[in-house]
Amino acid sequence: MNLVFLGAPGAGKGTQAEYICRHFGIISISTGNIIREALKNGTELGLKAKTYMDAGGLVPDEIVIDIIKERLAQDDCKDGFILDGFPRTVPQAVALDKMGVVIDKVIEIFVPDEKITERMSGRRVCEVCGASYHIEYKPPKNGETCDNDGGHLIQRKDDAPETVKERLRVYHEQTEPLKGYYEEQGKLYIVEGQEDIKDTTRYTVEVLEN
Ligand code: ADP
Repeated sequence: MNLVFLGAPGAGKGTQAEYICRHFGIISISTGNIIREALKNGTELGLKAKTYMDAGGLVPDEIVIDIIKERLAQDDCKDGFILDGFPRTVPQAVALDKMGVVIDKVIEIFVPDEKITERMSGRRVCEVCGASYHIEYKPPKNGETCDNDGGHLIQRKDDAPETVKERLRVYHEQTEPLKGYYEEQGKLYIVEGQEDIKDTTRYTVEVLEN
């Protein structure tokens, strides 16, 4: 099963992707995480991406398309995957189709903008492994550090309020048109993000099992 997860920044698509991939025994590929990792390691890719990312904009299509091409060529993708955060523009979706990658279903995790702004202010990520938490909705078990590795939790630079506003604008302008693109292919399913993350997962599983 090959899936694409869409959703505005902060709608919870990354968290859902994590849960759903475990449920179905497939892998989850987050372009955001790949780029952040490159940034941390100071690679050429990371340096190129940094300015776009910090300003709340998208990294240019040709860069992310290369990233995903390379990632999907790896062995562990054979049994299925979730693309979390890719494609994010129509040209990226066209490139994916041209690569011959067959997507079975596209899930949009839908949350209204007002709610997103409220949620983003509480989001924290692990400095070490990138796992995502929320101080109110998904706190780490001990209230302070990462459940996986005890890493320090920080607020991402691009989660600052002004940047969030810009990311939402970019989402509506560049990513939302993908809904029409996949609707035409008969692949789009919309799941409303619930207060309780587990409820959203349950609805998503229902959509995927039917
Ligand atoms: P979000 O919290 O918005 O879901 P991600 O972790 O998916 O964030 O991505 C963070 C940032 O990485 C984006 O704001 C963007 O700058 C860059 N990025 C990730 N995936 C893509 C993509 N497919 N196309 C362009 N830029 C991307």
